Amino acid sequence: MPVRSEKPLHIGVFGGTFDPPHVGHLVTAVNVGHALALDRVLLMVANVPWQKVGSRPITPAVDRLAMVRAAVADVARLEAGDHEIRAGGPSYTADTLACLADEHPGAVLYTIVGDDAAAKIHTWERVDEVLALSRMVVVDRPGEHIELDVLHPAIDWIRVEVPHLEVSSTDLRERCADGRPLDYLVPDPVLDVIRARGLYGVVVPA
Ligand code: ATP
Ligand code: MG
Repeated sequence: MPVRSEKPLHIGVFGGTFDPPHVGHLVTAVNVGHALALDRVLLMVANVPWQKVGSRPITPAVDRLAMVRAAVADVARLEAGDHEIRAGGPSYTADTLACLADEHPGAVLYTIVGDDAAAKIHTWERVDEVLALSRMVVVDRPGEHIELDVLHPAIDWIRVEVPHLEVSSTDLRERCADGRPLDYLVPDPVLDVIRARGLYGVVVPA
């Protein structure tokens, strides 16, 4: 029997709609990756973000994936995850983690969330499977401080400090709609994709 001497891969899974991706996502992913010495952090693009459907129009998954790919292209450790898009249908982290565990036998998986998402973890599909398959990582988001111990005492959260950037995709979509600039809030290559594809009502250059 061959002895496997390689260290297990440590992979962070940072799921989101990324509609669009912004500096808050990227600074979080890079800093969690560094703090926990992860080999890679996947920005996992939801195919159908079932909790958001019906509340607002969602940009097609292929466009959101193109923006995330553009955002991480030159950043060590960060990768765009297209697993949920390839799987199709509504996206559940439990399924994504099972898929990654098959793809990378022996890997140590981490589910990374902002504290607003952490506070709603009881609403996730099959959260028991998520907890069984991964270690849970939470970062503070600017705004209301969320006491995770009270909300979900069973989870042994790994809390990582990252720079607080008060940016949200909701705000960015509103900025686009009324013509305010997105410069410095999203990386330039993401802006290029937004312009080239005419996303968020941005006028495509002639
Ligand atoms: P929306 O406003 O459309 O909900 P969002 O900015 O919250 O978009 P999502 O795609 O919903 O982005 O979030 C994906 C993940 O990123 C979630 O875990 C969320 O908590 C986290 N996140 C989003 N923005 C930040 C931020 N500024 N700092 C830290 N984490 C963030
Ligand atoms: Mg959100």
